Amino acid sequence: MPVTPHLVLVDDDDAIRQLNLCAIESLDLGSVGSVASVAELMTYLELSWFRGQPVDLILMDIVMPEVDGIEGCRQVLAQQAFADIPIVMLTSIRDDAKLEEAFNAGAIDYISKPFSIVELRARLRSVLRLKQEMDRRREHEQELLELTQSLIQRQAQSERATYLDSLTGSYNRRAFDKKLHDEWLNCYSLRKPLGIIMMDIDYFKRYNDAYGHQVGDQCLQAVAACLPGAESGLFSARYGGEEFAVILPGADLDEVKLIAEQIRIRVEELRLSHVESDVGPWVTVSLGAASGYPGEISDSSQILRQADQALYRAKAQGRNQVD
Ligand SMILES: [Mg+2]
Repeated sequence: MPVTPHLVLVDDDDAIRQLNLCAIESLDLGSVGSVASVAELMTYLELSWFRGQPVDLILMDIVMPEVDGIEGCRQVLAQQAFADIPIVMLTSIRDDAKLEEAFNAGAIDYISKPFSIVELRARLRSVLRLKQEMDRRREHEQELLELTQSLIQRQAQSERATYLDSLTGSYNRRAFDKKLHDEWLNCYSLRKPLGIIMMDIDYFKRYNDAYGHQVGDQCLQAVAACLPGAESGLFSARYGGEEFAVILPGADLDEVKLIAEQIRIRVEELRLSHVESDVGPWVTVSLGAASGYPGEISDSSQILRQADQALYRAKAQGRNQVD
């Protein structure tokens, strides 16, 4: 916040401007600049702003050639950087119509010329006080805004930590359980089926043993990236170690199996070599599909169990397949 206020006087008449400048300076309210036209004023405002000494108050003559004080008001306040500068009009004649025009253009007050020093001091002081109060309030609002943003950011971070798996960036088990519960209720009220895929990486323990945990982690990341994302309306999560699960709201068993097959192909096409696999030379996955109507099945754990049993069968039948 500026320690001393910065005022600027706009008047086209050189003699009057000098006189008024002396009068305003004698009030000792702050630093005072002066210009002879609205065009000069705009330049002055910009330069002051760049120098970090923004103008706190403008005293503007109404009657000026080319651009008058009323149009000057509009031009200044139309600029976002200057929209909060209070403008006090200087009038030599008391003309109510002109004054109303000036107030409509955004002027905050007026002073009739020739003015008394006492009146000038009182008017300018009150306008400057108002300006300072506005600045303080805006600063306070800015602080509040920043505080709010940092809180929101922190909350988002902790939410990420709560619901995301740090290794793969997928949702974690906690997020899965919550989503399953929500979608269960949702599908129940919409009388739609709820589909589930449970998926396991084939011979993953052997993979870790053969390639080490670091490569094992990379494998988990690559496989996780093969799962459908939120843009598909589906929900994928890392369910456990090398186990993943997908929630498919509204999908019947055929649709669930179709998506599961697409995932299986995508993983196989990664061509991640797996020398210890009995299935083939690459990393593969087995998937169990299930679907049911929440109204007919007692609870969500039942459909999860069905998907798990299907996964078990897929493994028993030779892995790298959907059941
Ligand atoms: Mg004039």
